Amino acid sequence: MRQTALRPSAYPIAAIRADFPALHQKVHGKPLIYLDNAASSQKPRQVIETLAEFYAHDYANVHRGVHTLSERATARFEAAREAVRRFLNAKERAEIVFVRGTTEAINLVAQSYCRPRLQAGDEVLISAMEHHSNIVPWQLVCREKGAKLKVAPMNQKGELQLDEFAQLLGPQTRLVAVAHMSNALGTINPVKEICALAHLHGIPVLVDGAQAVPHLPVDVQALGCDFYAFSGHKLYGPTGIGVLYGKRALLEAMPPWQGGGEMIRRVTFEATEYNDLPYKFEAGTPAIAEAVGLGAAIEYLERLGLEAVERHEQELLAYATAKAKEIKGLKIIGEASSKGAILSFTLEGIHPHDVGTFLDHYGIAVRAGHHCAMPVMDFFNVPATTRASFALYNTYEEVDSLMAAIQEIIKVFG
Ligand code: PMP
Repeated sequence: MRQTALRPSAYPIAAIRADFPALHQKVHGKPLIYLDNAASSQKPRQVIETLAEFYAHDYANVHRGVHTLSERATARFEAAREAVRRFLNAKERAEIVFVRGTTEAINLVAQSYCRPRLQAGDEVLISAMEHHSNIVPWQLVCREKGAKLKVAPMNQKGELQLDEFAQLLGPQTRLVAVAHMSNALGTINPVKEICALAHLHGIPVLVDGAQAVPHLPVDVQALGCDFYAFSGHKLYGPTGIGVLYGKRALLEAMPPWQGGGEMIRRVTFEATEYNDLPYKFEAGTPAIAEAVGLGAAIEYLERLGLEAVERHEQELLAYATAKAKEIKGLKIIGEASSKGAILSFTLEGIHPHDVGTFLDHYGIAVRAGHHCAMPVMDFFNVPATTRASFALYNTYEEVDSLMAAIQEIIKVFG
């Protein structure tokens, strides 16, 4: 399987790895194997150099200045917005709001879209596999308004039960919010079908794309979603920058979330006239260099092609899954038929935190814990899992090393 799957000429893995300086270091005397990509990914030098070069030459505040540097910074900031628009295939740049990350994007929709519309007895529908940041913002607003948070169930493989989801939609549902890809299980949800079902009832859909965007091509128009949220730092870009995509008509109808500079056209002590989209939602000085860095990350991915990345990661996941299944006492948590490059597992009788610490001594970085998805852990009746999450730069050899280290752990602790 490995020999046929490698296809070194088709996927330039050596050149890709050369682009990521952080990968070329030792941890506890062993070459670093970075498998914590679902938490955050490493950065290619194209992103690191863009940040340094932007700060060295073009940095100034955006939109307000008439001087050259401000104009240059504004042009690059807006070019990054255009890169995001292209990346998501949004209709227009005005639909791309820069925020701090997925969490902030979801809170923005909860506060600005939901809060004014929710009444007692209304419902917001999410799925059973959501990250805390796609649960808590809805809980906050539902509690305040006397609305209910409904949860569509999943099965033991970690797949959303679409028929039950459809049953939960009704005249009281104000919004659906679902993950495109689960960070704890890897499940890829049928977002297009979800949107079509919700739209039959006229219900808008927010998609939490934090995990999906680094792994598969996303086209918001083809998906038909109303809002799409993601973070730059999981997409090989900087921290502190993320995106809320929203359909123009919805964004137009929403009040601003935060007040301040940038989001206004005219202010008097009596009243304020708000700025056009997307600036209405971008109060204060934005994360300028980070947005420019995100644009560089998107260009990097566009050069590689997300289809090629997806193919490589799917092959790697299939290889890792087959190997993991050969290990006695290892249980994979999350076996959806449509799944991204995440391998969550438990080892019989060994706590996931011990597994994580042990692996670190082999230079292998994984995540051990509840992955900010405590309800998922409750559903599978485990306190935590160990999660290896793959990125475009991971290799078959790294999977082999992970599996060998797991065998060692079982020998020592099992
Ligand atoms: N949703 C999902 C599915 C995630 O994996 C994450 C990050 N772990 C988030 C939301 C939150 O992203 P951020 O912390 O960048 O806001």
